[in-house]
Amino acid sequence: MRTAITLACSECKQRNYQSNKNKKNDPDRLELNKYCKFCRKSTLHKETK
Ligand SMILES: [Zn+2]
Repeated sequence: MRTAITLACSECKQRNYQSNKNKKNDPDRLELNKYCKFCRKSTLHKETK
């Protein structure tokens, strides 16, 4: 049930993180605050395909 996802910075749109999730636990698009080395600060990262 695990699905590979990519997390992209919501400010610069860089794809900074690869992850995976359980669709049963997280049916919605994930949004996480993570450090973006391009913005050089923590930004909201959103799941992309
Ligand atoms: Zn960024």
